[in-house]
Amino acid sequence: MIRVKTTMKCALFLKRLVYSFLILSLLSVAAFARQSATHFRDVTVVDGTGSPRYVADVTILGGRIVRIGKPGTMKPRQGDRVIEGSGLVLAPGFIDIHNHSESGLLREGTAANQVSQGITTLIVGPDGGSPDVIGDYLNGLQGKVAVNVGAFIGHGTLRTLVMKEDLRRPATAEEIAQMSVLLEKAMKDGAFGLSSGLEYDAGFSATTEELIQLARVAAKHGGIYMTHMRDEEEGVLDAIREAIRIGREAKIAVQVSHIKMGNKSVWGKSAEAIALINEARESGLDITADAYPYIAWASTITVLVPSRRHEDPAEVQKGIDALGGADKVLITSCRAFPVYEGKTLEQAAALEKKTPVDTYIEIVKNGGAGVVGFGMNESDVRAFYQTPWVMVSSDGGIGGRHPRGTGTFPRVLGLFVRENEWLGLEEAIRKMSMFPAQRLGLRDRGRIKKGMRADLVLFDPETVVDRATFTEPQLFAEGIKGIFVNGVEVWDGTKITGQLPGEIVKRR
Ligand SMILES: [Zn+2]
Repeated sequence: MIRVKTTMKCALFLKRLVYSFLILSLLSVAAFARQSATHFRDVTVVDGTGSPRYVADVTILGGRIVRIGKPGTMKPRQGDRVIEGSGLVLAPGFIDIHNHSESGLLREGTAANQVSQGITTLIVGPDGGSPDVIGDYLNGLQGKVAVNVGAFIGHGTLRTLVMKEDLRRPATAEEIAQMSVLLEKAMKDGAFGLSSGLEYDAGFSATTEELIQLARVAAKHGGIYMTHMRDEEEGVLDAIREAIRIGREAKIAVQVSHIKMGNKSVWGKSAEAIALINEARESGLDITADAYPYIAWASTITVLVPSRRHEDPAEVQKGIDALGGADKVLITSCRAFPVYEGKTLEQAAALEKKTPVDTYIEIVKNGGAGVVGFGMNESDVRAFYQTPWVMVSSDGGIGGRHPRGTGTFPRVLGLFVRENEWLGLEEAIRKMSMFPAQRLGLRDRGRIKKGMRADLVLFDPETVVDRATFTEPQLFAEGIKGIFVNGVEVWDGTKITGQLPGEIVKRR
């Protein structure tokens, strides 16, 4: 009886399978036959190269830009979509070279807060922290994401895989050899290079020699070395010198992550940092940087005390003073003391009737906290944004607690370009598209040109602006009218469409 039932079920199932297959095949043939184009009529093209804008009709079809013609010359066919672009800017989709959506993308492939700001390609694995196995991670996202995704392999991740918990010491020759094997595998899987996070526990104890040896492995496969440097505060210039040395000795291109003057003690030194890097560039080193458009960083509370003597009151006081005071530290997450979340370190201390120093020590003893430090100064941010070799990156990600995770790119367009007039629109777009594409070696993205992939952002240059704040970091930007990834619309001007056309991008 049971067997008969099973056989019947099987037959029925097979029949259904054959029918579904036939129907699907017919549907896809039909779809191919009447694949419709999308036309942008009379749109202002800012093509990503930095060249002056021009008005044109642009047609995309089958995931690529197929035609750019004079306004009024397009010939839509029946079934095509025509988007009126008059007064709007069409730019290449934004490429975010420093993004923390590793785990977020697994939960939320539609990536609403990434997509909504115009990001069409994001690169995960920065700051030394990446998925353990790049190939498995990327394959797992295939067909499940709205944006194109690529990855760096993290130095901290390699250390943790090889050295386990025992990270607070330089790696041995044997351990470096083991890390090199894993790194080599990641590079073969398409990683764009090696990322480091030398201010974090997993990377802090690495010697420059360890980094040079590993960077050589990445260089052998055409990768770059991308670094959250050892110090972004008092020791920032020495940290830049270390990055330059790694680049020279490993013969590898260097990307300085989120370049900044991280606290008051180094305000105004952006000129020296820029000069140092200019000098290295003139000597032949391929070194570039990226920056997010905010005067506050987000990290773990322990970065406040670079000496790592977290229980030494004098050291903690020094760290708090260097930032400019306990009111400059906003606690965004704190598992041990959730009541502190949303309060400054000064407010948390007042709550406990303790000093900020004692409160800091107590927090670190109990597992630490995520904080935002209002440590930068606007004129340094401006100086970096006005430097041609600095591109835009968000350092954000899905669900992040810093507004940069939702606001970065529209903020540059609305605040830095339109309101502050720090840089022109064409240059800002270049820093968001062609420049990061070049840095990563992505040849068919990052420009509006016939034959390029149709990753596009349509926005109103008069209204585009970020809305995300430190209290409401997830608010979507305004003025972004449409976003296309590989020719498929993922943002319709007010909401995500739910489409998942993102592809995996790899170093080639
Ligand atoms: Zn970082």
